[in-house]
Amino acid sequence: MAKSRLPATNPASRHAHHVEEYHVTDEPFYLPIADEVSLFEAAYAERISVMLKGPTGCGKTRFIEYMSWHLGQHAGKKFPLVTITCHEDLTASDLVGRYLLNTDGTQWLDGPLTRAVRNGGICYLDEVVEARKDTIVVIHSLTDHRRLLPIEKQGEILEAHPDFFLVVSYNPGYQSSMKDLKHSTRQRFVSIDFGYPPQALEQKIIEKEANINAEQAAALALLGLQVRHLDQQNLLEGPSTRLLIYAGALMRRGVPPRRACGIAIVQAMTDDELLQKGIYQVVAAVFSE
Ligand code: ADP
Repeated sequence: MAKSRLPATNPASRHAHHVEEYHVTDEPFYLPIADEVSLFEAAYAERISVMLKGPTGCGKTRFIEYMSWHLGQHAGKKFPLVTITCHEDLTASDLVGRYLLNTDGTQWLDGPLTRAVRNGGICYLDEVVEARKDTIVVIHSLTDHRRLLPIEKQGEILEAHPDFFLVVSYNPGYQSSMKDLKHSTRQRFVSIDFGYPPQALEQKIIEKEANINAEQAAALALLGLQVRHLDQQNLLEGPSTRLLIYAGALMRRGVPPRRACGIAIVQAMTDDELLQKGIYQVVAAVFSE
């Protein structure tokens, strides 16, 4: 997929952490799983912010890239996508902007959220639960009917561009994080649930993305299903569609299937030897070599 990065006209992009900003120029491959495309379109038409809920590697990012392209097609213009990966050191200034010292004195630089609010486009806060609560608060007035971003340091209140749209992702099952979103935050979004794709669709996704034959893709999709089934107490996360694709890609490169699954799936899921053994047994039942 070609992604044309926006020219770095604003040096603030160099100061914010983990920010990607680009126009999705070519149609991304996205296989719809249920009614998520029409739900997103309806939410966008009403400018109701969306939360994509689901485990890692199940297609949330690909979906938002696809929707950014799709909305751009409909509107007949480019639709920027600003992705911000949230983490605990992310501050409100990283999102909104800050004054920087330079040779001419101080200069205000918009943060990535402010740029999207000014110019329109999708702002995607990935793993929103990882951000500190005081950082998340800055999105509150953007997600209700006011659609305003207070820029405290400048004493300015910015009204969102009509095309501005806020999307967040949230992985509710992620047990190790022990974090939860505040109700006052989560009740500002409609949630679209992303689980792992059903077996037949996951097979198609693996076939296309790993560029392998239907038979190999079917075996990996079956493996995914069985390993997820194995973990009934939800001790582990995954294996994600992403990991199944990685295993397939290694197989295409000639790595024997059991070995490919060992390093792409078993090792990625857990370090616990006993659990690894259990997963490996499923691998050995699906692949003979
Ligand atoms: P997440 O953002 O949920 O962690 P991604 O969107 O990065 O996951 O998905 C991981 C990979 O799985 C993608 O790069 C893509 O190859 C594949 N994938 C998952 N679901 C789909 C889908 N419905 N259509 C196309 N590709 C998909």
